[in-house]
Amino acid sequence: MMPIIGSSLKVRIAVVSVLLFLAGISLITFFATRILHDDMQEMLSQQQLTTVSYIARDIDAKITLRLESLKRVALNMPEDLFNDPPQMQKWLEDRKAIHTLFPIGLMVVPPDGGPTIGDAPRLKTRPRSFTDRDWFIGAKTSGHPFISKPLIARATNQPALVIAIPVFNSQQQLLGIIAGVTPLETPGFLDLIMGVSPGKNGSYQLVSPQHHLFVLTSDVRQAVTSMPAIKEDPVLDTALGMPGGIRIIRNAAHQDELVASAPVPSTNWVLIARQSTDDAFAPVTNSLRNTLVITALLSLPSIIVLLAVLNRLLKPIAQLAGELHEMAEGRRPVRPIETRTADEVADVARSFNRLQDRLQEQEQRLADMALHDMLTGLPNRRMIDERLESELLRIQRSRKGLALLFLDIDGFKPVNDTHGHGIGDLVLAQIAMRLQAAVRDVDTVARLGGDEFLILLNDTEKPQEAAERVAQQCIGALSAPFRVNDLQIHIGVSIGIATCCGTQGMTMTAKHLVSLADSAMYQAKAEGRNRYVLASPTTTSCQ
Ligand code: GH3
Ligand code: MG
Repeated sequence: MMPIIGSSLKVRIAVVSVLLFLAGISLITFFATRILHDDMQEMLSQQQLTTVSYIARDIDAKITLRLESLKRVALNMPEDLFNDPPQMQKWLEDRKAIHTLFPIGLMVVPPDGGPTIGDAPRLKTRPRSFTDRDWFIGAKTSGHPFISKPLIARATNQPALVIAIPVFNSQQQLLGIIAGVTPLETPGFLDLIMGVSPGKNGSYQLVSPQHHLFVLTSDVRQAVTSMPAIKEDPVLDTALGMPGGIRIIRNAAHQDELVASAPVPSTNWVLIARQSTDDAFAPVTNSLRNTLVITALLSLPSIIVLLAVLNRLLKPIAQLAGELHEMAEGRRPVRPIETRTADEVADVARSFNRLQDRLQEQEQRLADMALHDMLTGLPNRRMIDERLESELLRIQRSRKGLALLFLDIDGFKPVNDTHGHGIGDLVLAQIAMRLQAAVRDVDTVARLGGDEFLILLNDTEKPQEAAERVAQQCIGALSAPFRVNDLQIHIGVSIGIATCCGTQGMTMTAKHLVSLADSAMYQAKAEGRNRYVLASPTTTSCQ
């Protein structure tokens, strides 16, 4: 019989092992991933903050460079050029070193706001008046260098930044304003954030909070555009509240972003780097996924190897179960099981063998009880009947004879009546012993029940003679008083004898022979008891 899948020890051990294996791997992965995640967050945060600070410093340095360079130009500008536009134009065109810093305009604007006294390069699209420009107003009214808000240059229509320096004469009269226009996309200016992004989908945002403008972002199309309204982009709001820091902020789409910010002091701008944490921590997520995939792939061969190992280890159990099953089904004789190993299976086999021995002993005892009288231990009616049948068959071949003595104790009932049933039982047991002692070992003494006994003398050539001799011996053996618990009990015995020779064996039955002996016994009772009577016809000799 095949065990059903779930009840098989092998399958259960395999399933439990694989579950433990998977649980172990999952736990290790879980904790390793958490540690990895924390370490990675720390490392990425540091890296992002360092990068943002570096770029912000770089931008600040480039603006400062432009400011300082323009200041030096202003300082060296001859006063008389302000009244001589052609000379001013020439002088400006000669300042080639600074043109790379202000590629779309190095211009001098008179105190009334325009048109320019000189500008290099000279552009036809150059406006005629600058009175509305914040840098003109700022530089003129403050009398100090002024950096414009990010703007779209009217001359070239490019996002740009204007740096303006007021120029004074020795009497502190304003001669004019020298302004340098730098397009934001000028090579070597804001390259570090243009078209570059932190991580795969992150972005840099250079913001001018005072003007509520994006100066420039990783997406160049956003240059000089309005920032979203307050609360529209919570990440931006929070980042502007913490210039110079890093943290994880939940965005409007309820996703976390790793956000770093750093100030650009010269312009009061703030550089922000933002990156979705999903992207930032993708290596951790990937390693987790890979570990799980590898675990899943590994568990299949593990199950197969485990089943193969279990198959081998549990083979003795399977063999033992098979042998026991065949014995139970009767396809194999019930016999002790050989133990080939010294493990628990051998223990089970040894226990089974011991159990088998005990069952056999019990079986034997039951068989004995079925054929013996409990009180005296003598063969009972069933056993003597079987023996009688087989002896009747035997004497047909051996041509010898047999005799059957039917004994009934005389005056036994009074023993019970006078001394009790218990004493009667003890007397019956002693009678059995005396009768047994009066016959040969080959003869059979049986108790039929009550105070009746049968004696079978088999394999004798002169059955009548033998029977009479045994009858005499029995009468003699039982005539002596029985001593039980200080009592002396006297009984007698009446015996009926029936004999049979080989030739008669064919027609004689056990039942008939017993009834002949029984009748003879009754005759002995009738004739005065304590004697024997031969049933007729009797056979003296079988020869
Ligand atoms: P008789 O001389 O005519 O043979 O009479 P008896 O007194 O021997 O009595 P009978 O043979 O008619 O009956 C046998 C008695 O044996 C009846 C019963 O009280 C008693 N008896 C039967 N079986 C047992 C037994 O197992 N133990 C004991 N103690 N007594 C038994
Ligand atoms: Mg009797």
